[in-house]
Amino acid sequence: MSDLETFRAETRAWLEANCPSEMREPVRDEEDVYWGGRNAVFKSDAQKAWFDACVAKGYTVPAWPKEYGGAGLAPAEAKVLREEMTRINARSPLSSFGIWMLGPALLHFGTEQQKLHYLNQIARGEIRWCQGYSEPGSGSDLVSLQTFGEEQGDHWVVNGSKIWTSYADKADWIFCLVRTDKANKYQGITFMLFDMASPGVSTKPILLISGSSPFCETFFDDVKVPKSYGEGIPAQVGEVNRGWDVAKYLLGHEREMISGAGGGDRTATIGAVLKRLVGEIDPVLRAELAMFDVDALAYTAMGEKFLDEVKVGKAHPAQPNMMKYAGTELNKRRHELMMAAGGSRALEWDSAETRGGQPARNWLRTKGNSIEGGTSEVMLNVISKRILDLPGA
Ligand SMILES: Cc1cc2nc3c(=O)[nH]c(=O)nc-3n(C[C@H](O)[C@H](O)[C@H](O)COP(=O)(O)OP(=O)(O)OC[C@H]3O[C@@H](n4cnc5c(N)ncnc54)[C@H](O)[C@@H]3O)c2cc1C
Repeated sequence: MSDLETFRAETRAWLEANCPSEMREPVRDEEDVYWGGRNAVFKSDAQKAWFDACVAKGYTVPAWPKEYGGAGLAPAEAKVLREEMTRINARSPLSSFGIWMLGPALLHFGTEQQKLHYLNQIARGEIRWCQGYSEPGSGSDLVSLQTFGEEQGDHWVVNGSKIWTSYADKADWIFCLVRTDKANKYQGITFMLFDMASPGVSTKPILLISGSSPFCETFFDDVKVPKSYGEGIPAQVGEVNRGWDVAKYLLGHEREMISGAGGGDRTATIGAVLKRLVGEIDPVLRAELAMFDVDALAYTAMGEKFLDEVKVGKAHPAQPNMMKYAGTELNKRRHELMMAAGGSRALEWDSAETRGGQPARNWLRTKGNSIEGGTSEVMLNVISKRILDLPGA
């Protein structure tokens, strides 16, 4: 057997022994997703057992180095693990903005002490992070942000507000873009980390079309952010006033993460899923489902190609924008088709049968996919300028 085949066999055996059957069921509600953090509560013993097993093995962040809480897997091994988890429908043991966004930025820009400190916390799910980027008036034009940090001796005093901060009311810490030089647009922003329990931080939930409130307005009133949390652990990632570089790098990872929704259920076609859910499907709709499946397969192939290019260092740096655009538009289409196939029953909002209108709420939630992390229009602008090199873009 090749090394990779041996690894696959070992992975299968490990999953068989450690992934409880309950953790192989589809996610049904928000509580089925474990986000970690200071106030986290496990929904069940199975959820805890699966999480603990993955932490011990480094499988909450399989590709991160072992000293930072990962398993140190090579890209090909990480791919095998993903495939084997998909094969048994294993749930992700930990959902985390620390894993998807802050971690990659720290791996690239952090000091050694920052990496040892924060990455291990993230891998063990100890701290829940939120992202303080958008402000009223600074969304697509993020670089115009106004939240200001005034330097005062050994700390910054931060004033301003953020908006659409996902799970700010549940987060322990924030990675936050703060203007620290008003005279310099791009080189006047610092990427700061601070505790959401700091005096002067407050949050106010915003109600969404889906009926839930996953995000907040976040206010900073004279928040004191220490310049250092210890030897080699400054409050900022990267240099002071050079946070825009960190912010852009992180956005690439965020867009990759959001684009993943486009992959959907890779173990079955949408037709097969719908047949299971709603029975016989209208023949006209069937043609649309087939077209969707072709596009979903093309999207998956594009993703595989991208990952292979990343492995050999040949990926176009703007490629995550293309993945984000294609993946989120595809995901919106998937849910439109699910609703069309379900008919008026799919719009039902309250019953136990639909677990409180989960299909309709999921459909409405996808509308935000092509806005969060940068809108589709902005993605198309980047693609035309940086990938297609169109004149006038
Ligand atoms: C579900 C969800 C979760 C989010 N979570 C977070 C979070 O955790 N933290 C955070 O900081 N932010 C978060 N956001 C905010 C998100 O990043 C912004 O909504 C997004 O960047 C767009 O900014 P905006 O809402 O200010 O819209 P605007 O920038 O005002 O855009 C309005 C419209 O104008 C279009 N537009 C703007 N500029 C251009 C242009 N140059 N060319 C063509 N069209 C343009 C846009 O495409 C859009 O249709 C979240 C958003 C959503 C929907």
